[in-house]
Amino acid sequence: MIEFKNVVKTYDNGHTAVSNLSFTAPTGKITVLVGPSGCGKTTTLRMVNRLIEQSSGSILLDGEDNAKTDTIRMRRKIGYVIQNAGLFPHQTVLDNVCAVPFLEKREKKASRERALELLTLVGLDESYANRYPWQLSGGQQQRVGVARALAADPPFMLMDEPFSAVDPIVRKQLQAEFLKIQANLAKTIVMVTHDIDEALKLGDQIVVLQEGGVLAQIGSPSEILAHPASQFVADFLGESRGYHALNFEEISTLLLDSSPSLRLGDLAPTHLHDSWVVACDDSDRPLGWTLAGERHLRVEDIDLSVTVQQATGNFRELLDASLASPNGRAIVIDSNEQYLGTLTSEFVVQRATQSLRVEETLA
Ligand code: ADP
Ligand code: MG
Repeated sequence: MIEFKNVVKTYDNGHTAVSNLSFTAPTGKITVLVGPSGCGKTTTLRMVNRLIEQSSGSILLDGEDNAKTDTIRMRRKIGYVIQNAGLFPHQTVLDNVCAVPFLEKREKKASRERALELLTLVGLDESYANRYPWQLSGGQQQRVGVARALAADPPFMLMDEPFSAVDPIVRKQLQAEFLKIQANLAKTIVMVTHDIDEALKLGDQIVVLQEGGVLAQIGSPSEILAHPASQFVADFLGESRGYHALNFEEISTLLLDSSPSLRLGDLAPTHLHDSWVVACDDSDRPLGWTLAGERHLRVEDIDLSVTVQQATGNFRELLDASLASPNGRAIVIDSNEQYLGTLTSEFVVQRATQSLRVEETLA
């Protein structure tokens, strides 16, 4: 874990960017620092790896005071990802990813092999390894930046607006993939963003800062949405709080209906004839809806236009999925894309309305 204890940063010009800040970023979780531009987020982050020295207070990494630890040794435990990736322009993608392991004089062959694995993990195949950063899109560079930060397998990661410089669609993809990677690696992460949506989506814990690096609120996304601690936080969350809350609720599998499903090539039992059935591939991944008939299920019989949604998806997406389907039901999958169950659009609307009402009562 990373502990901030009464940390203050006053710059030489007298400007106090961080005021008496205390919070703990728990092990294996993502803590997101969020707040308006200039409120001290970057300053806070850079004090962790001592790119900036605090004026007073202390920062502990797994109990070790970072001011009393050898800086080089301390930094090796911390992966650092910045906006625009900050790649070395004259080095190939592979050498960029290997930068820290090479510095540490780790074995070259093993480092390169691990780098290739990491590139795959962030969604870049081997063909990217020998390219230069300028030959990549912004989103691809950002992926390399994440792979590079992971290369030395550090227990801690600091990320400063890591996804801000890419367009919204790529950004969504990067966020989703990043969450998948974190689900496996469980790094202790402190991430900075000015985007409240990004904070709510990625954070296990959110630290809201206001002007002068003053702690405005700390809590889980749902706590902060349900109980903003001040007018500042409420305003920062925006007037669309109810709408954000829709983003939020996880679909418990207990709420799902177990609509019947068939695999390609299966023969539907008679009692299902003329009813809607979830059509799946050989690995039980839903392809769409089909009206069951007397013959073996073929791809041509499936309505492939529907979208499927993960159980951790949000109500807005579920509503879209249910309204777009031929029978008003959204198909829900787990994180391995396996079929879980279905939900009606009426149910989704009802739950969404309930959570909006809760929001209004609390407001
Ligand atoms: P954020 O990342 O939240 O946008 P920063 O941490 O970069 O904010 O900056 C916080 C405040 O400190 C801002 O008002 C900024 O202008 C000021 N600041 C940042 N770096 C310096 C510096 N080296 N000297 C003086 N003031 C600085
Ligand atoms: Mg910043």
